[in-house]
Amino acid sequence: MFNRLRNWLENRRIKKMGFTAEQWESAIADWPVMHRYQGAERDALRNMCFRFLVRKTFASGSGFQFTDAMCLKVATMACVPVLHLGLDWYDRWKTVILYEDAFVPNRPYRTEDGVEHSRGPGLSGEAWYRGPVILSWQDICETGAHTRHGKANNVVIHELAHKLDMLRDGANGAPPMHPDMRPGEWHDIFTAAWDRLQNDWRHHRTLPLDDYALTSPAEFFAVCSEAFFEAPENMREEMPEVYRLLCQFYRQQPLPLAISGL
Ligand SMILES: [Zn+2]
Repeated sequence: MFNRLRNWLENRRIKKMGFTAEQWESAIADWPVMHRYQGAERDALRNMCFRFLVRKTFASGSGFQFTDAMCLKVATMACVPVLHLGLDWYDRWKTVILYEDAFVPNRPYRTEDGVEHSRGPGLSGEAWYRGPVILSWQDICETGAHTRHGKANNVVIHELAHKLDMLRDGANGAPPMHPDMRPGEWHDIFTAAWDRLQNDWRHHRTLPLDDYALTSPAEFFAVCSEAFFEAPENMREEMPEVYRLLCQFYRQQPLPLAISGL
């Protein structure tokens, strides 16, 4: 009953918002990942994007004058990870804050040399526990399969992966598992992949992911999620087991299954 009422109210608000399918297509036209979503899946993504826009509030950081097209694009990128999970996975927070460029959080920051600075370095994005998602538009424009040191980059997917991770025991690299998944397997495979990456990094080998993934298990999951959606070929090739588990978690196959026996 509650869901029906919520849908009815949302449909009214979507109608009032007045976005068209053409506006949406134009806003996401330069994001290559969208080629993957066609037919009914594309329609579902557009519908979810409009629903995201009525459920969330977009706020300006430092007076940035963002446009409707920017909101449509951010909302679509945000919806891709939950397309087959459901928008309810984002129910515990409300606000997206959009800055024009990297933003500097107003809090103390300690560098590796142990020095405490009154403010930290510029950030491309941040996700607060039960708080807002903060994003830099400039960094969103640098999305792509090879845009961060030659590695996959999508700050929206990165921060939203943190939000999913936070749904169970805080951000620790282990989001809630579906009934058909085994938490032990997730732990073992992600730990082994992390150890391998750490080892490659120590031996100055080329890494399949941006080395920011080595910051913590939470960052590892977020960076893997970026690679899963932005550069799935590379991820399946370099980290097949992690790719398989992310397919299970996100309930999506970014790459068609290999056809054998033909
Ligand atoms: Zn992060």
